[in-house]
Amino acid sequence: MKLLKEKIESEGIVLSENVLKVDSFINHQMDPVLMKEIGLEFAERFKDEAITKILTIESSGIAPAIMTGLALNVPVIFARKRKSLTLTTDLYTATVYSFTKQESNEITVSNKYITKGDNVLIIDDFLANGQAALGLASLVEQASAKVSGIGILIEKSFQPGADDLIAKGYRLESLARIEALKEGKVQFAKDRQL
Ligand code: 5GP
Repeated sequence: MKLLKEKIESEGIVLSENVLKVDSFINHQMDPVLMKEIGLEFAERFKDEAITKILTIESSGIAPAIMTGLALNVPVIFARKRKSLTLTTDLYTATVYSFTKQESNEITVSNKYITKGDNVLIIDDFLANGQAALGLASLVEQASAKVSGIGILIEKSFQPGADDLIAKGYRLESLARIEALKEGKVQFAKDRQL
């Protein structure tokens, strides 16, 4: 997606060979115009999947997810990150190891909001090792619902998450694919469909 790549090029900060900082338009300050376009782009890419729900994880996935939900006219659910759980009867849970925080989080979603028969589109900001996406997919599958696709804003293609999700049979759509973060510069990979 041209607009997102331009934004990454002009405002993204390469923190290391593995981490890109995008605090000025995704992770801290947010760009509503960009988010609106992202929502429209995901809606177009997944228009034939009969999506009934969008699932993301707090907090940075919420903005693109809500714009996609608006464009597809479906509800948006965000999984919560919790340390300990006392009440487990009405929750689906999965353990996710956080790439950036280097700690494990228990993520949860109420069984009220994802149910059998739902076609769920998972949205997240970054894809690195695929832990967040796999945790979200697990929540969907615990509900006997279907993961109809995974939409990612920024895929770091040099990390194993993307290949892993595809090998597991999930449909993955990434709006910007990064081949390398070298010498302070972002090198983009080609779009997967082209
Ligand atoms: P994964 O679970 O695929 O290993 O990592 C994805 C999660 O880690 C995303 O939800 C995102 O919050 C965070 N993340 C991974 N890599 C980066 C990065 O390079 N920059 C930022 N800002 N977040 C990242």
